[in-house]
Amino acid sequence: MKKAEQFLKKKSINKENKKAYKLRKEEEKNAPRDALTPQVSKNFGQKTIWGQNIIEVRSFNVDKPKKFEFLGSFDSLETLPTYPLPEIAFLGRSNVGKSSLLNCLTGQHKALAVVSKTPGRTQLMNLFKCSDSDGDICIFVDLPGYGFAKLSREKQGEIAGFLRQYLEGRGALRHVVLLVDSRRGPQEQDLGMSGVLEREGLDYSVVATKVDKLKPAELEQQLSTLASAFELEEAGGPLPFSSTTGTGKKPLWRALKRGLVGLMDSAEGGDAGAHEEEGEVDGGADYDVEDLL
Ligand code: GDP
Repeated sequence: MKKAEQFLKKKSINKENKKAYKLRKEEEKNAPRDALTPQVSKNFGQKTIWGQNIIEVRSFNVDKPKKFEFLGSFDSLETLPTYPLPEIAFLGRSNVGKSSLLNCLTGQHKALAVVSKTPGRTQLMNLFKCSDSDGDICIFVDLPGYGFAKLSREKQGEIAGFLRQYLEGRGALRHVVLLVDSRRGPQEQDLGMSGVLEREGLDYSVVATKVDKLKPAELEQQLSTLASAFELEEAGGPLPFSSTTGTGKKPLWRALKRGLVGLMDSAEGGDAGAHEEEGEVDGGADYDVEDLL
């Protein structure tokens, strides 16, 4: 197909999507419901309402030092800027250890995400651009924590609705990291979120946080409970993570890379692929995110 034809086709598809989106929003407005209840399934390929501009995906070396640039905090999808880069979103209950994980994962000396002493305080999306010496890689989206008990039901519903809107509508979203506290059993809202991710056909990893707080036998038990709740048995369970000890940091980076790059690795060769991971010493279990889907 010629370029001009392709362009026109894309343009008309986007117009159609916007129309369909407006219609759906109208319907949703008239039918109040629990914000986490799965809704009618939609076509992932049509998810072009926000962040629809060209996504530049490239492979990268997980071991290469990364730079992170704070792009801003946003409180609505309408004001959320779009970038020609794929997004990785971090999602979890308030106090699950999301800010700590982000600081650990990015290895920033200056805290990248504020480790909150007041859970549920912020309902902002914080955006960070991740790059290495070869250029930009992706955008990290630190989503507001859900399920903070001290917030009113209405406020909680507002946050959950906001999260769902982002997950359903953000075309640039390529991978979601769903954080669950390894000490707690699977929480209803976490399962609700994984339901949304499944329904939307989104690529995601389940990460069990704060594993340093559990004794090995307890941890094994909790990981297996989480694995069965999230149906991750075949994938080897959730990825154990500790921001305190750094356990799981490298496996998570590898999961993010697979989430972003997928099968591009084998085609590209170069710095991508299994060879870079040979001989690595890492406390965390390996984790094949492709098996999750
Ligand atoms: P957020 O609300 O999800 O961003 O959670 P935070 O990162 O602010 O963490 C909530 C609390 O859990 C803080 O007191 C952290 O110090 C603590 N925490 C977070 N991650 C870990 C971890 O891996 N191990 C331990 N022992 N504590 C953690």
